[in-house]
Amino acid sequence: MTQPTEKLYDADAYRTAFTAHVIACTQGDGGYDVVLDRTVFFPEAGGQTPDRGTLGEAVVRDVQIDDTGVIHHHTFAPLQEGAEVSGEIDWKHRFDNMQQHTGEHIFSGLICNRYHCNNVGFHLSDQTVTMDYDRAFTKEEIDGIEQAANEAIWRDLPIEIAFPDDEELKNIPYRSKKELSGQIRIVSIPFLPPGAEGKRLKGSEQVDDPSERPAYLDICACCAPHVHHTGEVGILKVLALQNYKGGVRVTIACGERAFRALTDSYLLLSGLARKLSTSPEEVPAQLEKLREECAGAKRRSAELAEAMLTEKLNRISSDIITNDTITTDINLDTGVTSNISITNRSNTSEASGPNKKHLLLFENAMDANSARRALNRWAEDHRGCCILLLGDDETGYQLLIAAGKADPDADARVPADRLKERLGIKCGGSREMVQGRVSSSRQEIEEALKGS
Ligand SMILES: [Zn+2]
Repeated sequence: MTQPTEKLYDADAYRTAFTAHVIACTQGDGGYDVVLDRTVFFPEAGGQTPDRGTLGEAVVRDVQIDDTGVIHHHTFAPLQEGAEVSGEIDWKHRFDNMQQHTGEHIFSGLICNRYHCNNVGFHLSDQTVTMDYDRAFTKEEIDGIEQAANEAIWRDLPIEIAFPDDEELKNIPYRSKKELSGQIRIVSIPFLPPGAEGKRLKGSEQVDDPSERPAYLDICACCAPHVHHTGEVGILKVLALQNYKGGVRVTIACGERAFRALTDSYLLLSGLARKLSTSPEEVPAQLEKLREECAGAKRRSAELAEAMLTEKLNRISSDIITNDTITTDINLDTGVTSNISITNRSNTSEASGPNKKHLLLFENAMDANSARRALNRWAEDHRGCCILLLGDDETGYQLLIAAGKADPDADARVPADRLKERLGIKCGGSREMVQGRVSSSRQEIEEALKGS
């Protein structure tokens, strides 16, 4: 049986290069599985991505650890079994992971101490860092923890690693995400004595009361590499807070990631300010002003469209319509259209019998409430139904059908049923008014209504 791999990163998280003996190299799925006697490559574990780097000339594409503690380096090229090999990790990637991971300890230690909750999930990918807690939090509570986390970073507290025996472990109140067995690695961040912190925080006020805080910011069982001092985390920024499985999920960024995220936000905001010809501080007020102007313009546009539709319907009823493309009379019973191109409606009477003739009108999309008001006005002194379609073939049509009140037999559901039956549309309403959506083309709608 292969011995567990010696984890050089346990002793020194800052070591980037090493030499080792190749214990085994087997060809596998799309590459090679290399086992060494020792390694600085941290495997995928505890919710974070594995180290990247090279073994000799071979690029390491993945690193995994099995249940027996053997670390498997997945490479694109083979290595000679028994040979000595030099390896090197991608330090930029590793240090980034160390910053994010240590930031998680600071945030989780603070929040779990202050609110007696548990960290029940952690995910550290190359893009995002999320932490899950089994309690609901307000934004203000999270803001408070974010502030305290950054103060802990400014204090530049030491991060200590220990391998206590079973007896010592019993007296250590450490956090752990799962039941652990075997040698437990304890990561702790002790608060420094006030005098020592005072030197680090020259001229700065102590924010919390040292007599009320625990001796440790965090004590946690953990196998991953961490930075030596909290100051190396640089900055911790909360990017998102969402409700998650009865608790919350907090997204953070630390170090260079936080710096980039804040820089991107600043560039976005200053770009927005330039476009609005204002200062970044004035952007919210300017946007509110624009929003109000836009709402006013929309309202005026809807009023105009309503007035135009009312006018058009009036002209049709006055038999002076000359636009031959917008209206057609339809007899649903016979399928005969008496006048598709209406140039003079004096030759065509409106519905002479129950549901005989209807007016079909295609218009550009407009506010449905405005259209309904115009149709209601038309219905007051007309016969038959007015079938109004708002939209175009590309985006589909909003359907409104009004029944003229001068005709006691007019029923908006009759043409609606025809469209339902022939085009499978969805609509609903009453005898007076039906509304719905139609995704068919204008031609299909006309044919569905005209065909007997
Ligand atoms: Zn850790």
